[in-house]
Amino acid sequence: MSDERTTPSTTPPAWRPTGLTWADGGAALEWLSPAGATRSSALEVGAPLGLRVGADRRCLGLWWDGRRVPCVAEARIDAAAKSGQCESCAAIARTRSVATDTALDDPREFRVYLAHHGSVIKAGITASARGPARLLEQGALSSLFLSAGTLVSARRCESLLTAALGLPQQVHTARKRAARWAPGTTTSRAAELAAVVGQAAGLDWPPGQAWDPTSALDHTPTYGLPEGGLAPAGQLDPLRPGTTVTGEVTCRIGRDVYLSTPGRTTSGGVLLVDTGLLEGWDLTRADPAVPGTASTSPVSAPGGAGAGVEQDALF
Ligand SMILES: [Zn+2]
Repeated sequence: MSDERTTPSTTPPAWRPTGLTWADGGAALEWLSPAGATRSSALEVGAPLGLRVGADRRCLGLWWDGRRVPCVAEARIDAAAKSGQCESCAAIARTRSVATDTALDDPREFRVYLAHHGSVIKAGITASARGPARLLEQGALSSLFLSAGTLVSARRCESLLTAALGLPQQVHTARKRAARWAPGTTTSRAAELAAVVGQAAGLDWPPGQAWDPTSALDHTPTYGLPEGGLAPAGQLDPLRPGTTVTGEVTCRIGRDVYLSTPGRTTSGGVLLVDTGLLEGWDLTRADPAVPGTASTSPVSAPGGAGAGVEQDALF
């Protein structure tokens, strides 16, 4: 939380989180201030986190050319929504996103990457200037870059990798979460990525992208994800006013945060928090040492019939 925050008074200011972000290799929770400015608070592994849910959840508006445009309706958002945007703002943002994707005259350099997600390796592209941010945002366990060049050629490479090698361009969140129970070793992931590089090297690589594969970069230390994996006992349900979410950050990966919550249950345990469920709520500070009161659901290990595990998870 920002230092500018004060202890809750009778009329607490409506600070609303806009999501978990990755910049300069670190995770931060971004906030919309009561005045409409954005602030971010670092979310380090080991940091205590305590949030009290306020009265309402409102649309955060949208970002346009790096500026925030407030929601004209100040729309209320359903507690179960996975983002803090109303349908209208999300639709406008989507249009903008598509426009950006199809603006093939974007002069920036784009790189083609392989992202290891445990049970699957996907292909994607990102602007070179963003460094590894795109990989950290999606929660890739390890990654490497294959080539660099124009946006048009990067898109062609991505399509080629999908068509020729069957690499997906999207990986379902449930599948990514399942992989974190047993992420495997840095060495095994690097070897699997190298094998795909070997296959890609045999393809007719589109002109405009300079083939220059990098070594695999492992992201699990950045997240705080142990080699032995993380086994959450529960996951946060949609929030309700007046409840609290508390604990100590053990890992943050993609847009998920894992909180160690001793005393929460008889056995204690790790709680999986989808930060999308926090977005848009009026949140104030709560004592991180006091067990949280927000509703949670049990999580079963992948492979069972537990909640949150996709059927096509491979183990
Ligand atoms: Zn809106």
